[in-house]
Amino acid sequence: MADYLICGGTSYVPEDGNTGAQLFATGEGLTYHDFIILPGFIDFAAEEVDLTSALTKKVSLKAPLVSSPMDTVTESEMAIAMALCGGIGIIHHNCSPEFQAQEVMKVKKYKHGFIRDPVCLTSNHKVSDVFDVKKKHGFGGIPITEDGKMGTRLIGIVTSRDIDFMEPTSDKLLSEIMTQFDDLVTAPAGVSLDKANEILQRSKKGKLPITNEQGELVALIARTDLKKSRNFPNASYDANNQLVVGAAIGTRDSDKHRLELLVNAGVDVVVLDSSQGNSIYQINLIRYIKNIYPELQIIGGNVVTAAQAKNLIDAGVDGLRVGMGSGSICITQEVMAVGRPQATAVYKVAEYARRFGVPVVADGGISSVGHIIKALSLGASTVMMGSMLAGTSEAPGEYFFSNGVRLKKYRGMGSLEAMERKDTQGAAADRYFHGEGDGIKVAQGVSGSIVDKGSILRFLPYLVCGIQHGCQDIGSKSCSMLREARVKNKDLILLFSANPNGGEC
Ligand code: GDP
Ligand code: 5GP
Repeated sequence: MADYLICGGTSYVPEDGNTGAQLFATGEGLTYHDFIILPGFIDFAAEEVDLTSALTKKVSLKAPLVSSPMDTVTESEMAIAMALCGGIGIIHHNCSPEFQAQEVMKVKKYKHGFIRDPVCLTSNHKVSDVFDVKKKHGFGGIPITEDGKMGTRLIGIVTSRDIDFMEPTSDKLLSEIMTQFDDLVTAPAGVSLDKANEILQRSKKGKLPITNEQGELVALIARTDLKKSRNFPNASYDANNQLVVGAAIGTRDSDKHRLELLVNAGVDVVVLDSSQGNSIYQINLIRYIKNIYPELQIIGGNVVTAAQAKNLIDAGVDGLRVGMGSGSICITQEVMAVGRPQATAVYKVAEYARRFGVPVVADGGISSVGHIIKALSLGASTVMMGSMLAGTSEAPGEYFFSNGVRLKKYRGMGSLEAMERKDTQGAAADRYFHGEGDGIKVAQGVSGSIVDKGSILRFLPYLVCGIQHGCQDIGSKSCSMLREARVKNKDLILLFSANPNGGEC
């Protein structure tokens, strides 16, 4: 392993370093541990550093952070928390297509400007029906309409407070407990989101139904959402003001059905999940998706060389996922003898892909804030993390104790355990095991556990703050400036030289 430093300068080139091109010209593979970034010049505050980064050609994030599609990392709870904090979650596909689509839908429904398809009931429904809705969807604010559907006349509303002290099995009719239409504060159809929020705020109510001239319900606004957007000013929204979410799929024919369900659920980005992405299967699937769903953003991968990247870029990907064998739970390089040290992989692919405007996701091997900053400085636009985010309360799975320590499971998707998951319909096995017939499984990952890290909603702001401080030390006011510094000999130049500590600082 070579020892090098990357150093940031200002308007001159210090003589004690090498440029990225020089460092990676040696042909030796480097990991994040093999270099460090030297400080530059600071003339701005850390909180001014703009971390806005492109995930794909069309999707941009306020924080360059992506959660990995692994069944111990990303389901809807993680994806919601990631998006609220400015990043994005990619829902794993080691589950049935229906379950995955449902998880996507939960994210898209989580935060709404206007809830355009609120769950409604009729006045003839019972209190127990409201409890059922609450159990299934998590909310209890239900508009009561003439026939229990959207688009018919609004006649009242039932909220959680109306049923707080009632038995979940109560068969009392909602007509007896609902707030009648005449007592409701409503807003007219066509009202702007800002205006509607203002009315809601003034009314001190929990919900604001929006009705048309005929008194028919056309949308609903929740006070909870108002408060959430105040708490998460950097949240990642789509044009509809809903949280953005991604989902992973494989490259088999059966994945086309999965894809259809995901698109119907409103997925923004699809990640083609292959450990070696440079294949005819992936290229054909990219062409198919671009043909059938031209608006859907595709991240192809995984790749670690420019030659691999070229094929996927030519096929039409909107982003590239980079990394092979770099994950913390990964044994691909040992088992398959194929892969590339992650720093070199990110630099080489990003260097090639930037010419085509294709952003790079540095996937795997991130175990500290410093690694994130290094990945970005090598040209990645975002980083994808597994182990960093596992063990948080939003990661799937239950906590358990071992030797008095509170832990959660974290496992490679190519581990035997993940490949043998009962309800998967074979998704993990598809990625890591091309098992045509003989049933032999070759593990490319391991299983383990991770100490309780608390909530993502606290952990991600810490990562964001750490990245901002790192960029400040380098002298880079934004992620894009950091990326460009590597390639343009202009204001800021990243240089490389020997690392005196012989390892990570
Ligand atoms: P409630 O008072 O029990 O309805 O719950 P809250 O208002 O505190 O939270 C409801 C959350 O669920 C908000 O974030 C809504 O945007 C979201 N939501 C998504 N779909 C619906 C829906 O059909 N009806 C309602 N009431 N909320 C929904
Ligand atoms: P981490 O952030 O834990 O270092 O790495 C996460 C990444 O490792 C994932 O995004 C994925 O690309 C990769 N990965 C997940 N499971 C496996 C596995 O079982 N084997 C291999 N080779 N890579 C895996």
